[in-house]
Amino acid sequence: MIVLQGKGVSKGVAEGPVCFFRRADAAVKKETASDIESEKARVAAAQEKSVAQLEALADKARAETGEETAVLFETHAMFVEDEDYVEAIMTALEEERCNAEYAVEQAGEQFAAMLAAMDDPYMQGRAADIRDVTRRILNNLMGVAEGGVDSDVPVILAADDLAPSETLQLDKSKILGFITKGGSGSSHTAILARTMGIPAICGLGESLKEEYQGRPVCIDGETGQAVLDPDEPALAAFREKQKKQAEMRELLQTMKGQEDVTLDGREMLVYCNIGSPDDVAAVLANDGRGIGLFRSEFLYLAASDYPGEEEQFQAYKKAAAAMEGRRVVIRTLDIGADKQVEYFGLQKEENPAMGVRAIRICLNRPEVFRTQLRALYRASAYGKVAIMFPMITSVWEVRECKEACRRVMAELDAEGVSYNRETEIGIMIETPASVFVADALAREVDFFSVGTNDLTQYTLACDRQATDLGRFFDPHHPAVLRALKMAADAAHRAGIWIGICGELAADLSLLETFLAMGIDELSVSPSAVLPLRAAIRGSTAGSCTLEKLEC
Ligand code: PEP
Ligand code: MG
Repeated sequence: MIVLQGKGVSKGVAEGPVCFFRRADAAVKKETASDIESEKARVAAAQEKSVAQLEALADKARAETGEETAVLFETHAMFVEDEDYVEAIMTALEEERCNAEYAVEQAGEQFAAMLAAMDDPYMQGRAADIRDVTRRILNNLMGVAEGGVDSDVPVILAADDLAPSETLQLDKSKILGFITKGGSGSSHTAILARTMGIPAICGLGESLKEEYQGRPVCIDGETGQAVLDPDEPALAAFREKQKKQAEMRELLQTMKGQEDVTLDGREMLVYCNIGSPDDVAAVLANDGRGIGLFRSEFLYLAASDYPGEEEQFQAYKKAAAAMEGRRVVIRTLDIGADKQVEYFGLQKEENPAMGVRAIRICLNRPEVFRTQLRALYRASAYGKVAIMFPMITSVWEVRECKEACRRVMAELDAEGVSYNRETEIGIMIETPASVFVADALAREVDFFSVGTNDLTQYTLACDRQATDLGRFFDPHHPAVLRALKMAADAAHRAGIWIGICGELAADLSLLETFLAMGIDELSVSPSAVLPLRAAIRGSTAGSCTLEKLEC
């Protein structure tokens, strides 16, 4: 039995075999082939498998997100069998007398480079498709499982760390929990684990070894302990805890349908954070009162090219309609920093967290912004959509965003497309600058939502992604809490509501402080709704104090 200690970032207990995440970009080695015909047959089999996968993905996309993504997968399936492309692979095999993997990689890259060099922007854009298709055929040749999980049974997924786009593409039905060498509580893998309601431990460092592949492990996302090859007593203790948690979950079911009010009648709404319209099912199952943060960038992260207006519209409409009149706050694109999207071609930056990210990208690229705003306004006809802008630092940014909204509304009016003219507009308070000018910002918008993950990062000058900042990264720091209070006061003076959608919202040890500040809404992962509601219903707002703001 080996006990590994990391940082618990998503509560819960799980047991299963360790399975290391296999990156799809495993290096290809050139080998001399003795039998070219059998290499050709391997290419043909990998192509066939790729086409079948792409057709299945097209069907899934058609059912879940709409026609536009479905067509993308169908086009990829056509590329796999494109005559010129296949001929290029076969020629490479003949000429190089090498293994199938090397021939596919070489031919695919040459083909993509040729397309990229063309004058026609449409053909240039197809280079990325060919690279995608080539990677798929390579994965099938090398036995790299789609979604990075090479297992038929559910596993505890182990990794150095996971990029948000990798986490997104995982086959979630196969994952019981996460254990990572790096990462932090506010990294997007941790956020996703909480949304999925499964345990996760990060920061295990080098104690997490590849040789543990396939061995049984029990993980506790509360204590941050992972026990490899557990003995009988350890296993029994884990199972006991699992049972208690199941009982607690059962007990919390009584919170469904109850109001989010304190004992002395103060309402504090409990909303949910989601990353895709599919997560709405978990929101409804946990009786979230609304959606306080729909991270729309996950649509962009999951795609291999800019998602179009129709595809986005379908996704937002699906969430808005499913919530049946309850508020759905959709945040506009927040990429950059740790959320990199290749097709945006963003410059490499020394300090990406302080670089061209989030609203800065949207204001620099009006077309990308316009497409998303059009989709959002169109979706507003199907539910109570609210639009929220991330990473605001200045009043002029908000005014430009509102101007972009007005232009889109005028377009839709001219086209006779229906939308909700009263759609609420809000901003995220997640930079110290936005706190300092919160009074002026509050006069511009309908609501604030505090992103405590970034607010902590920027206030304390502590990278939220870093594993080893330890006690220096302290979201409970009085500076962070005072910033929250300043924003809340500014919001209330202007008569608008303020919520919190960063991870701190689910921190029950701060609930009384939030009540004392008069925070109106807390947006948390779906699995945190019922415990939070129980805590609110057991609190008395009138006796809450701001003592945690003292140094
Ligand atoms: C935040 O910064 O707290 C937030 C909610 O946004 P994200 O975690 O997506 O940056
Ligand atoms: Mg943020």
